[in-house]
Amino acid sequence: MDSFYKQLKAYGKVRTQESLAKHITYKIGGPAKYFITIKDISHLPDVLRLIDGEGINRIILGGGSNILFPDEGYDGVVIKIVDKHFTISGTEVEAVASAQMKEISQGTVSASLAGFVWAIGVPGTIAGALRGNAAYNGIAMEDAVSKVEVYRDGEVVILTQEECMFGPKDSVFKYNTDVILRIWLELKKGDTQEIAQEAMENIAYRKRTQPEGFGSAGCVFKNIVVEEKDKAAFLAKFSDEKIKEILTKYNKIPVGRVVELLGLKGRKSGKAQISTVHGNFIINLGGASAKDIHVLIDLIKENVYNTYGLDLEEEIQIV
Ligand SMILES: Cc1cc2nc3c(=O)[nH]c(=O)nc-3n(C[C@H](O)[C@H](O)[C@H](O)COP(=O)(O)OP(=O)(O)OC[C@H]3O[C@@H](n4cnc5c(N)ncnc54)[C@H](O)[C@@H]3O)c2cc1C
Repeated sequence: MDSFYKQLKAYGKVRTQESLAKHITYKIGGPAKYFITIKDISHLPDVLRLIDGEGINRIILGGGSNILFPDEGYDGVVIKIVDKHFTISGTEVEAVASAQMKEISQGTVSASLAGFVWAIGVPGTIAGALRGNAAYNGIAMEDAVSKVEVYRDGEVVILTQEECMFGPKDSVFKYNTDVILRIWLELKKGDTQEIAQEAMENIAYRKRTQPEGFGSAGCVFKNIVVEEKDKAAFLAKFSDEKIKEILTKYNKIPVGRVVELLGLKGRKSGKAQISTVHGNFIINLGGASAKDIHVLIDLIKENVYNTYGLDLEEEIQIV
């Protein structure tokens, strides 16, 4: 084994040529040259200094629920942190980057805190959610985050909420090499019964509207944000009542519904399929390749552009 591998091993369990399909919810992806599992997040800055010092590619893997690796794999180090620790004190939540969204949300429900119930059905880690400004039903990470600790250029620094530069399904972390280490949320005391009810409704709604039992990465595309000045023109363009309702209420065009109107639900490429349940989900029927997913992504983009003149942007991280 090379000397880099030996140095890496000082920080956790290292595998070479590890199948990424085993670690992401799509169940797709070739091998990672190095795959390190770190138990204690406090070791992460040293690991990053080592990797960056060697000039080797690196990527952090959270729950793997919003990412697609190529069939050829990843030529670098994939870092997985298994620390799930978080604490709730009063109205504040402090969570390590790798803490699970569902567990944190359940914790806030038990503590009768309002403002994070929406996350109860979101798979993956809080850092993955922060990077993509994960959202549900009009509420997003940015509404709860108060500050964030990151590794930036060899140093550990604290960022304010504003410095995260959140936008719809967007943040500064999509454009830099920062690694998120720790996140603080500020929530509000709420009514215990109302919060429990909201959690139950949220879970039931997901069961009705999202495909179950197949590999996926949630919504593939960002919903289209419409500026107030363009709203009337778009309302005239779509005759569909559901799109009109969401556009009026949230200033957004729901991609899933657009895909449905175009008759693309159920279309297949190899072992991948545009979900018959939700038009913005592409599912792995079993044995799909990344190439199969890309064919369907391109098919949707082309049809949406040719019919409505709209450019779609991927929400999932395509490596
Ligand atoms: C069934 C299903 C339902 C979903 N529902 C929703 C939903 O309602 N709303 C929603 O917004 N999303 C949803 N998603 C998408 C996904 O669950 C979320 O975006 C989730 O927050 C991603 O977290 P993750 O840990 O799995 O990220 P990963 O897929 O592991 O990573 C995503 C990106 O974040 C980066 N990243 C991870 N950790 C760090 C870190 N510590 N520092 C820097 N970068 C990091 C990765 O490198 C990668 O670029 C759904 C997905 C599925 C499969």
